[in-house]
Amino acid sequence: MKLEKDTKLICIDYDGTYTESPELFDYFIKKAKELGFSVIGCTMRYENEIDEDLRHFEQMVDELYFSERRAKKKYLEELNINPQIWIDDTPEWLFVDSI
Ligand SMILES: [Mg+2]
Repeated sequence: MKLEKDTKLICIDYDGTYTESPELFDYFIKKAKELGFSVIGCTMRYENEIDEDLRHFEQMVDELYFSERRAKKKYLEELNINPQIWIDDTPEWLFVDSI
């Protein structure tokens, strides 16, 4: 994914966050993009755990990342992706592996 230097990056969790109200987050993602934000999704799922609803989320965000149970912040940092804003129902998973 190409990110503009000055673009603020928002990272949204899937399970328990987006799933809580896809209608709300679809609206939020659209509006954030209109306002010039980039929006990615990051889930601790494995890529083979994708389902129809997650596919919809994938289509809404600029890019979807599967950390495969690894702490999301570290996982994304290793890809040189550093969101300024995180939206997550369990923020501890940004810092702790789930294994
Ligand atoms: Mg969650």
